[in-house]
Order: sequence, then C-alpha cells, then structure tokens
Amino acid sequence: MTGPLSQKMFAKAKTLIPGGVNSPVRAFKNVDGDPFFVRSASGCRIKDIDDKTYIDYVGTWGPAILGHAPIEITQTIHEVAKQGVSFGCPCPWEVTMAQTIVDWVPSVEKVRMVNSGTEATMSAIRLARGFTKRDKVIKFEGCYHGHVDHLLVAAGSGALTHGEPDSAGVPKDFSNQTIVLKYNDTEALQETFDSIGDQIAAVILEPFPANAGLIFPREGYLQFLRDITTKHGTVLIFDEVMTGFRLAKGGVQELVGITPDLTCMGKVIGGGLPVGAFGGRSDIMDHLAPVGAVYQAGTLSGNPLAMAAGLAQLKALDEAKGYDQLERLGAQFEAGLRNLLAEKGLGYTLHRVGSMFCLFFTEKEIWNLDDVSGADMEAFKKFFWALIDQGVYIAPSPYEAGFISLAHSTGDIDDTLDAMSTAFKAI
Ligand code: PMP
Repeated sequence: MTGPLSQKMFAKAKTLIPGGVNSPVRAFKNVDGDPFFVRSASGCRIKDIDDKTYIDYVGTWGPAILGHAPIEITQTIHEVAKQGVSFGCPCPWEVTMAQTIVDWVPSVEKVRMVNSGTEATMSAIRLARGFTKRDKVIKFEGCYHGHVDHLLVAAGSGALTHGEPDSAGVPKDFSNQTIVLKYNDTEALQETFDSIGDQIAAVILEPFPANAGLIFPREGYLQFLRDITTKHGTVLIFDEVMTGFRLAKGGVQELVGITPDLTCMGKVIGGGLPVGAFGGRSDIMDHLAPVGAVYQAGTLSGNPLAMAAGLAQLKALDEAKGYDQLERLGAQFEAGLRNLLAEKGLGYTLHRVGSMFCLFFTEKEIWNLDDVSGADMEAFKKFFWALIDQGVYIAPSPYEAGFISLAHSTGDIDDTLDAMSTAFKAI
C-alpha cells in the first residue's frame, strides 16, 4: 500500500492524465496496486510525497548510474542553464558528446543525438531502410525498442507487462514489414535469411535483452547474427539504450567483442535529462539529411543541458572507475541473493551482469521470452509489496531488470538483502 497523499494525488492524476501516468510502466498495474508519487531523490534513495524513503533499484529506469541528483550533474545543469537552455543552433557540447561516444563505443564512427530511445530506434530503422533500399526488419520476441510503430510487435517492457504486445493503432501494413523471431534461435534466422535475405533491411535487437527480464545470448549467437547480416547486406542494429554506458564504456558490444553496423543509445548518456542517440558506420550515417536522403530532425536534439548533463555523468563514471565499482556491488548483491535463495530453498533463476540483475520467479533456465513467461506472478507481487513496505523499490514488474548505482553502498545492499529475506517469507 502506498501512503494517503500518493493515493489522493493518483486519484486526481487519473482525471487529467490517461491512467494517471505519462508512461504505462509507472502505473503499478502489473502488481495490482497504485504508484507512489515522488517528491525528491538523492543518492540511491527516493522519497515519496508521504515522506516515505525507498532504496531505489529502478534508477529512473536506467539513467541514474551515479545515483540520483549527483552534484556533478546538478552543478553542471545549473552552470550551463545560465548560458541558455536551448539554442536551436549547433553548440560545442554536441561535438564533445559526439567525440565521447565515438571514443567509447566500438561501432560508432558518426553519431546523431535525439531526445529519447524511441527516436533513436525509429531513426535507425529508417536509416537502415534508406541505406539498403529494403523494407523488412527482423526483431525478437520480448525485445523492446520504444514505442515505434514497426517495432511494437511482440515487444517487452510496458507492452509486455500489460499483455498488449501488439498495440492498437499500428496499421497491419506496418507490422507486416516486421518479422518476429525467437531470441537465441539460430535456425529460425537461417531459414528466414535463406528465403528472403535480400529483402531484409535490418536486424534490430537488444544484445542482452533487458525488457523481458535479463536474457543472455547463447555462446556464438551474436557472432552468428553478425555473420549472417554481413553476408546478406543487412544492417545489424544493437539497441543499447539500456546496456550502453551501463555495463561498460562501450556497452555489450565492448563486452562481447562484436561490432554492429548501427547502435541505439539513450538513458545513461543523458544524465537523467531526455536524450537518445544513434550512430555507427560513417558510410551508413552519411545517408542522413542534410548530406543524404534519409530525413531525420529534432527541435531540441543536442540540447545543451542534456549534452552537458550527460557528459558530466560520463566523466564522473570514468574518473571514479565506475564500472569496476559497479561490478563489485553487483557481485556482492548476487552472492547475497544466491545465499538467501539457497537458505529459503527457492530455485529461482537469477541473472546478473555488472550493475544489472533480474530475479526470475521460475526455476526454468532462461533463454527467450517463452522461458520468462512462466514466472510466478503471484509470488512476485507479494515479494514486491513486502519490499515496498520495508522501503525498497524494485521495478513493479517481473519483466524488468534492476539497476545498482554508484550511490549504493555495501551497507545499502546488505539492508536490501535483509529486506528481501523478510519479503521471501511473504511468498
Ligand atoms: N530501447 C530499449 C532497449 C529500452 O530499454 C527503451 C526504454 N526502456 C527504449 C528503447 C525506449 O527508450 P525511451 O523510453 O527513451 O523512448
């Protein structure tokens, strides 16, 4: 149960905003409850309007890798805002951001900034189509790429949690161009490419799908994808909106050593401000307007506040050797949670990489969306609310990954594990 002020605010919000929220996953629909409203957030904690504090593992759905409102970012925003909040002309921060992305992300030779992850994937798909002069796109069940019409087919995240993988309002003619395959299934890919390989503009995937829990590729799977797309002249797009700058400077592509043609980015690179980006091979990127024929634009793209906030976050991460520390915290959390599961005799599957984790409420091995779908929802709901009662906030859905930040201390993680120990008793 959330507090009375949140309940009152939610009742009012529902009269003014569809469902009371500006993004469906925030509605707590999947856990049969109502959301709390946040007054402030600092470090690894958020405080609701009823003055209840939570240790936060959602991190504004990924961006808050330093924790909430870190001084490096708030000070930068303050300083830059004095110079102006938007110019609509090129500004130096855009060039520094582009340089940083090119330096950090293996696949990126040129990059364009946008305002959200959705814009990044939408634009990357259009670019791939313009470049290849083909229409069809392959995506995978459970991968979420934002609310792009063509990609809202068998999507993860909010689309999945609400049981609406296919959105109303998407013309059949659009979704007909999207081929949906099972993640980790090389045979299905081979068959598809054998029959219509010359029609496929792009394959888009989250290289570690993190909108249907947290799924890892089988040995050789990403290499297979790289090889088959190269062979057929298809653009390979890694959607690293979630994993980019989160798991390593260069995201999953750095970890696994496989370089896509295009990469979609967002979340961490905005430091909490609205941002997305897509980039990749120069010969493909140069098909974008104004040099090329693929149109793409944005009034606020490359916004100075967003660029500066994102740069401040990346600089702080780098200077603090952040990824090493996040790995240590992640390993502490994983070891503690595995102990708890063993103690309680629960065989649940736990996946973790760096600062991202997902506890699947099933004993199945997890390789694709079908495996995830067997999760025990009732157990998850009880676990979630028992954590809320104790002041720990994980995503209100069993299909979302959790995020640890640099603001979590080892003590915060111990406290969380204690709360989880109690929460398991509620199941
Ligand atoms: N791609 C991935 C992998 C994502 O996780 C998300 C958002 N969770 C998006 C795209 C869409 O990003 P946005 O919500 O910023 O539009």
